[in-house]
Amino acid sequence: MSNAGCRQPARRGKGPEACDADIQVDDRCPDTIEITIFVAALCRARPGWRRVPPLGTKPDTRTVTAMTSIRSIKGFKDILPGEAALWQSIEKTATEVLGAFGFREIRLPILEKTELFARSIGEATDIVEKEMYTFTDRSGDLLTLRPEATAAVVRAYLQHKIYAQDPVQKYYTIGPMFRRERPQKGRYRQFYQINAEIFGVGSPYADVQLIVMLVDLLERLGVTDAQPHVNSLGCPACRPDFRRALLDFLAAREERLCADCLRRRETNPLRILDCKVPGCREATRDAPALSRFLCAECRSHFDILQGALDALGIAYLIDNRLVRGLDYYSRTTFEIQTSALGAQSAVAGGGRYDGLMKTLGGPDIPATGFAIGFDRLAEIVAAGKGTEIPGPLVFIAALGAEAQARAFPWLAALNRSGIWADMLFEDKSLKSQMKRAGKLGARKVLIIGENELAANTGQLRDMTTREQVPVSLDRAVEELRRHLGADG
Ligand code: AMP
Repeated sequence: MSNAGCRQPARRGKGPEACDADIQVDDRCPDTIEITIFVAALCRARPGWRRVPPLGTKPDTRTVTAMTSIRSIKGFKDILPGEAALWQSIEKTATEVLGAFGFREIRLPILEKTELFARSIGEATDIVEKEMYTFTDRSGDLLTLRPEATAAVVRAYLQHKIYAQDPVQKYYTIGPMFRRERPQKGRYRQFYQINAEIFGVGSPYADVQLIVMLVDLLERLGVTDAQPHVNSLGCPACRPDFRRALLDFLAAREERLCADCLRRRETNPLRILDCKVPGCREATRDAPALSRFLCAECRSHFDILQGALDALGIAYLIDNRLVRGLDYYSRTTFEIQTSALGAQSAVAGGGRYDGLMKTLGGPDIPATGFAIGFDRLAEIVAAGKGTEIPGPLVFIAALGAEAQARAFPWLAALNRSGIWADMLFEDKSLKSQMKRAGKLGARKVLIIGENELAANTGQLRDMTTREQVPVSLDRAVEELRRHLGADG
């Protein structure tokens, strides 16, 4: 238990009757929460203190209000600097790749009207039924933290009438999404996605372009086993035939379906194919394949997509079970799976949603897109190469007040010219400054002590080779820039 932020730290007692730890309840501290602590009969009472017994004492448990530090919300994780550096590098690669394919960034609010998601994602989906963070704000509006980005990108495209100038647009957006799912490794309640959308193009080549872009991005990030899975969901003309055939097939297997799937039969039967419960998977093993029910246009669309992937030499799997949870998909649907995190799992998913613009009150404009799970992608990349934590290019070890006063302007000048330089603002020994430089991962250390000041020449030490070169203190910034390769 941590008591950071409390005025009185936990203490350890001595002797058989003393406590292992004392926890003070401080009413002035606002962040008190209910915790259960063990109370030993042997503990001496002291006003204002609760007792924890020595290890091994049979506990008498009771609940008290005690002070503890505030922790993050379940399913919401911190991305600490080491990990954030990896996220930055993934984001950089992603924006380069997306830029090369002609996508431009769009930044949108994370809070939208609940109706947007209810209408676009569909009322009968897990997301809308049970996973959204929805609340009424002070003016009575029902608002939701976005569970996905597509609906909001479409909303912006329609709201600003962008289609009136040019319906063909390619956008990407990177940011947090919120779903109240059961948290586990690779699944969070606040997670991040890289979304890409192509509006105004019905051609299967747009879908292929998205898949190629994903494959390219994953390759550049060193993910070697990315496997595209593709399927076609048909269109409003042919999907009803499949739906009927699927319901007929399921009628004889009712008793083998889980409660969720029994409900889905009424609301969203395609989702039954996607259920992860083993009994449901077994029961639907021989379910009719959607591809057999495609109308001529959808068939041709799917054939062109496969032909284009073949021509590019991209290996893919036709996956009849790939139905996706969102109502607005039509024709192409795809997922990129990888086994990098143990079990096969999707790192990205997407597809065509030609009906969404109209559903949201806009013109009939086709659209296709994908979402990459950033958290999972980062975990895969980190597992492949480990997280490299960058350090400063140079650390200035200034010994004594005079050296500190001389060096501080150099530090500021280096920082302002875009060079990561660091120093300790305390008069510490050379040994502890070198230790600090090593801990930060500094590439080089400039040492300035009494002797260096007298000679007007510092020593620049390479932390890998241990070699030292002299640096004139009159031209310290220029020389450092030259040695660090930051000239020009
Ligand atoms: P979806 O928006 O459901 O199509 O998901 C697209 C991608 O986002 C998935 O392939 C996952 O990689 C990622 N994803 C979805 N939900 C979560 C979550 N709760 N936590 C982490 N990543 C997620």
